[in-house]
Amino acid sequence: MMQLIDTHAHLDEQAFDADRDEVIQRATDAGVTAIISIGITAETSRRAVELAQQFPNVYAVVGIQPNYVADVDETDWQKIEELAVAPKVVGIGETGLDRYWDYAPIQKQADYFTRHIELAKKLTLPFIVHCRDAETDVVAQLRQAAAGGMLSGVMHSFCGDLETARACLELGLHISLAGMVTFKKNDALRAVAKEIPADRLLVETDSPYLSPEPVRKIRRNEPAHVQHTSKLLATVRGVAADELANQTTENAKRLFRLD
Ligand SMILES: [Zn+2]
Repeated sequence: MMQLIDTHAHLDEQAFDADRDEVIQRATDAGVTAIISIGITAETSRRAVELAQQFPNVYAVVGIQPNYVADVDETDWQKIEELAVAPKVVGIGETGLDRYWDYAPIQKQADYFTRHIELAKKLTLPFIVHCRDAETDVVAQLRQAAAGGMLSGVMHSFCGDLETARACLELGLHISLAGMVTFKKNDALRAVAKEIPADRLLVETDSPYLSPEPVRKIRRNEPAHVQHTSKLLATVRGVAADELANQTTENAKRLFRLD
C-alpha cells in the first residue's frame, strides 16, 4: 500500500475542532502514516506538542511564523525554546520572511528567522521556512546561516522559481510542495517541481488552507488530501504514483528522523 507523510499541517486550528479525530482517521485510511503539525505562535506550538502526545501518528514543529512576530517578546521565545525539547518535536518553525502581508517589520522577521535557525542547529533539528514575496532576502539569509556549510530544513509550500529552488537545494534544503502545484494555472510551478531531485522532494497540505485539485472546491483542506498533490507530482515527473509517494515518505522520515 502507498505510504504518504503530510509534512505540514496546522492540526491545532479551529477549523478542525469539530472533527479532528475523523480528520486524522481519514488521513490514515488514505495511507498517510504521519502528520507533522506546525506551530505559528507560542500557544499554537504548545497545542501542536499536545496533539503529538495525543495521536501516535502526529508529530510537532514549534516556532513563531513571520506574520506573528510583531508582538512577540522574550517570554514567547523562551516558551518556544522549552517546547523545542518536548517529546515528538521533530523540527523548528515555521519561520522565514513574508513581505506579502507585511504584518511585522522585516527586521524583526529577520531577527526571528535567525533565532529559529540557530535553535534548530543547536538541537540538530531541521527548520521549516515560510517565504512569501521575499525569495531574494530568504536566500541571502540562508546563505549567511549556512556560512559555507550545509543546512537541514524545508522550503515549505514552495512557490518560487527554479533559481530560488536551486539556491536552496545547494544549501542542503528540501523542497516541499502543497496544493498550489495542482492548480490549473500553475504550469510554472509544475515545471519547477519536475526539476527537484527525487531525494529532496516532500509533500504537504498546509491544511486547513488551500485544498488541492480535484478537491479544491472543498474549502477546508485536510491531511488526507496530500494524496492528490502526490499523484499530480508523480504524473508531472513521469513516475508511478507509488514510487513518488514512497520516495517522499522516505525523505520525510530521514529528514525528521521519524521511526
Ligand atoms: Zn503553514
